[in-house]
Amino acid sequence: MKPDVTSQESEAGSGRAESALPPARFADLHLHTNFSDGTYTPEELACQAARHRLSTVGLTDHDTVEGCVRMASACAHAGLEFIPGTELTAELDGNELHLLGYFVDTRNPGLLKEMAKFQTVRQNRVREMVARLNQLNIPLQADAVFAIANCRSPGRPHVGRALVQGGFCASMDEAFERFLKKNRPAWVPKFKISALDAMQLIHQAGGLAVMAHPGLNRTDEIIPELVEAGLDGLECFHTKHSASQAGHYVRLAKEFNLMITGGSDCHGLSKGKPLIGTVKLPYEYVEQLKSAVAQQRSKISPPLSAVRAPR
Ligand code: AMP
Ligand code: ZN
Ligand code: FE
Ligand code: FE
Repeated sequence: MKPDVTSQESEAGSGRAESALPPARFADLHLHTNFSDGTYTPEELACQAARHRLSTVGLTDHDTVEGCVRMASACAHAGLEFIPGTELTAELDGNELHLLGYFVDTRNPGLLKEMAKFQTVRQNRVREMVARLNQLNIPLQADAVFAIANCRSPGRPHVGRALVQGGFCASMDEAFERFLKKNRPAWVPKFKISALDAMQLIHQAGGLAVMAHPGLNRTDEIIPELVEAGLDGLECFHTKHSASQAGHYVRLAKEFNLMITGGSDCHGLSKGKPLIGTVKLPYEYVEQLKSAVAQQRSKISPPLSAVRAPR
């Protein structure tokens, strides 16, 4: 669902006196590249973001921050502001949820060590899915999937692409419907970190933890527990949220004093039309995230003047 576009944008460039106002700025804070299961390279994604007149983008590849270095320089080149991030699959009280980590230090050893484990689990999951396909007399090879994925964080879409490219399925939809969807014969459950551990991991890497697309996981009842454990924000605006869901999550965010974020969850061309541009988050919410992360960091490492011993 699209958040309200401010009147500033509709008047920008109209030639009236109000057009002297600076153009309104918008962000997309949920994007994937080919460092996980998106199809765009960081450079292509930055180019698309500029084409959609976004001012700010957040990269949230699954279980990796590897694409952030290239994305940062592609954004600098395109005149875009960049927010590094990731998306972790987590679990609380038996409920699956996705947690976005924004402004994480992409060189944080603890974060990188945990992500390396998640990536190994993903690679083993691909092998397991392929083994199940082989049992169904589909002679797909794991190496074919890894060649298509060409990244450390492979997932079901890569298996789907390999099935299509190998001529075993006519489309990605067929691949998911016949084999890869939950409870289909080649489906293998995904590893989920505990949500509390995931938030701790994000926080110790200097980031903010935001619950992704809460409307898709339908886990409102765990929000109070997550807030208690340090959740920082809710992704109220998401392509798959209806207007009423977006309104509902904005109200919940205000009730729990959480930050509001939004993004398209664009995976490039993997699911038909690229979603980038379908959610444009007003920049005021980015400002709030930036202030919160600055505040959090000042708590962790107070400015020198505050810790210097009195003479
Ligand atoms: P995984 O994280 O490996 O379980 O894969 C989840 C990804 O598969 C998500 O990005 C989904 O949006 C994607 N997915 C689910 N169904 C389909 C489909 N029919 N076609 C393409 N991608 C899909
Ligand atoms: Zn994905
Ligand atoms: Fe997600
Ligand atoms: Fe996502």
